[in-house]
Amino acid sequence: MKERTLAILKPDCIKAGFAGKVLDRILQAGFELVAMKLTKMDVKTAGAFYAVHKERHFYGELVEFMSSGRCVPMVLEKENAVEDFRKLIGATDPAEAAEGTIRKEFASSKQNNIVHGSDSPENAKLEAAFFFSEAELIQNKN
Ligand code: ADP
Ligand code: MG
Repeated sequence: MKERTLAILKPDCIKAGFAGKVLDRILQAGFELVAMKLTKMDVKTAGAFYAVHKERHFYGELVEFMSSGRCVPMVLEKENAVEDFRKLIGATDPAEAAEGTIRKEFASSKQNNIVHGSDSPENAKLEAAFFFSEAELIQNKN
């Protein structure tokens, strides 16, 4: 069954001019675009998106980074989308990411790691709704 995940091309990806290359890798891996936008999160929005990490030592810097420039949230569809997308991007820290993964190829640090991917189908739904309206998510249904 087709599943959806929420991805974000993070500000480091956009600033480095990697958006096209990374999107190409995603599409070539068989993910279909359901919704996509260019946006800039303010501190409050980035803080809310990563609220689950509020107590972590890196939260403040993460929020600063994610609100430091434009980013591209997108909803992607594929069989087993959540797990397959996490495989495609690789481990959080590019130093630990497998060969051939997006983070291994493009990311510069554990924080500046190019792309976000939901970690469960439940979170994918919540994260998609964080950026896109119900209408945007329904109108693009195949
Ligand atoms: P992932 O994005 O792989 O799901 P997490 O959910 O654990 O990773 O963390 C969210 C984001 O916070 C990471 O993608 C990364 O940008 C940042 N981050 C995670 N751990 C650290 C850390 N130890 N130091 C700095 N930034 C971190
Ligand atoms: Mg995560």
